Amino acid sequence: MSETYDVDLFVIGGGSGGVRAARIAAGYGAKVKLAEEYRVGGTCVIRGCVPKKLMVYAGRFADEFEDAAGFGWTVEPPRFDWGVLKRRRDAEVTRLEGIYDTNLMRAGVEIVPQRAVIEDAHTVRLTGTGERVRAKVILVAVGAHPVKEPAVPGMELAITSNEVFELESLPERILVVGGGYIAVEFAGVFASLGSRTTLLHRGDRLLRGFDDEIRDALGEAYGKRMDLRLCRTLQSLERAEGGIRARLDDGTEIVVDQVLVATGRRPNVAGLGLDRVGIALDAAGAVPVDAWSRTAVPSIYAVGDVTDRANLTPIAIREGHAFADTVFGGRETCVDHTLIPTAVFSTPEIGVVGHNEDVARAVYGEIEVYKARFRPMKATLSGRDERVLMKVIVDCASDRVVGVHVLGHDAGEIIQAVGIAVTMGATKADFDRTIAVHPTASEELVTLR
Ligand code: NDP
Repeated sequence: MSETYDVDLFVIGGGSGGVRAARIAAGYGAKVKLAEEYRVGGTCVIRGCVPKKLMVYAGRFADEFEDAAGFGWTVEPPRFDWGVLKRRRDAEVTRLEGIYDTNLMRAGVEIVPQRAVIEDAHTVRLTGTGERVRAKVILVAVGAHPVKEPAVPGMELAITSNEVFELESLPERILVVGGGYIAVEFAGVFASLGSRTTLLHRGDRLLRGFDDEIRDALGEAYGKRMDLRLCRTLQSLERAEGGIRARLDDGTEIVVDQVLVATGRRPNVAGLGLDRVGIALDAAGAVPVDAWSRTAVPSIYAVGDVTDRANLTPIAIREGHAFADTVFGGRETCVDHTLIPTAVFSTPEIGVVGHNEDVARAVYGEIEVYKARFRPMKATLSGRDERVLMKVIVDCASDRVVGVHVLGHDAGEIIQAVGIAVTMGATKADFDRTIAVHPTASEELVTLR
């Protein structure tokens, strides 16, 4: 290391991307400091994927209790205790946070529990102590935050996906605004846990960018589980006796106990000092980077949601790892953002890898679409009114499977495994020669003709 630097790498942000980069770089022998102003673990561990999924699990028991009757069980009317879930969920998050801390320390990374801002291409300033640290390389991994949009009167009464984890009781009535991952997942959780849930979205279908048939199937299922209002916008919020009154553009009013806005997230760049070093933001307010996560300043890199490439934990982790390999491991590595398996933990769940039908048609021209819509075996005895949807999209010229879409139980688990095959370039013929596992739902994927 050059004499003029205090550390080889200074990481700003202790979320998924920053932690992975710090650990891998330290493993290569780099001297690393990591600043985190809130809690190590970042959005995913502290107020995102992990606590959210625990809440999804909690909600799913409601269906299980109901379904059990069809299989001979007598279940006393079940009661749900929000306090128990919150306490146990928070304890698990704290446990994971401790593991992140320990792993960083074991790797030799020094954690600085303060906010850090960029002073120049090689200097960060810790805002708590005022200390300046000279670093050969700076990694910006500060993530993003939820926005409160639309900017309507009374929006201060709404909460975001940050505060949702702090609620001390289950709202009896909740309005969720938005139609993306977060709105869809939380509306599903609250409806399952017993809140009277209204999901309000400005578009005519939920989950823009997903396959239209999957979107329709989700809309159908959600329409049965909650009060789903599409093509509607929020006009104002105001305090009302016993709650919050929301006024919609069609003149209707709803009184609820909580309003959760989930209308997108923006990079955490305010006051970070990027302008001081000449890093201009893109139209989305994100830090532009090249394929190796390098910004316009050669000594400053950025990974994760702050770069707004694909805002998913596993992508941030890959980007952080690839950065460390490239800069400290002597192995130039970039992340392929073209084929990303992903899941939405709605109920029913969604799993996707590859293109939706419209995009596949635009990219490949001639495509073949195979699909199955069926009642899952469990529903035959439970009597639950539900359908699974599976779609496999094939490029006719190459026979390659270029999109798989699943809506139904364990879609996330299914798509992770199918994602391997699709990433490897599997053809429809490969799917066809795969022996079915019977009786499962996912056997449909290899028996579609
Ligand atoms: P998204 O960008 O996914 O969705 C935002 C939603 O809000 C869209 O439906 C959008 O509508 C709507 N919207 C945006 N602006 C307005 C507005 N002014 N008024 C009304 N509606 C508006 O954001 P999320 O907050 O849901 O999630 C952020 C990201 O986090 C996701 O994109 C995803 O990458 C990640 N995530 C992933 C999860 C997972 O992997 N399971 C879970 C949670 C988050 P429209 O479609 O019309 O633009």
